[in-house]
Amino acid sequence: MTACPWCGEPVSIFVDPGGGEAQSFVEDCSVCCRPIRLHARRDPDDPVEFLIDAERDE
Ligand SMILES: [Zn+2]
Repeated sequence: MTACPWCGEPVSIFVDPGGGEAQSFVEDCSVCCRPIRLHARRDPDDPVEFLIDAERDE
């Protein structure tokens, strides 16, 4: 679970595992509808999971 960098609400992000080891994309927050820039990378400890960083996309 990732927190929206705008409103702080938890947002669930679906990462397409076919998109590669490291991905960057923008998704609108489902709560405040503002754009979130997401950086996803494979979790080295759990290869089926992604680690996600979220920042404001201005
Ligand atoms: Zn939000």
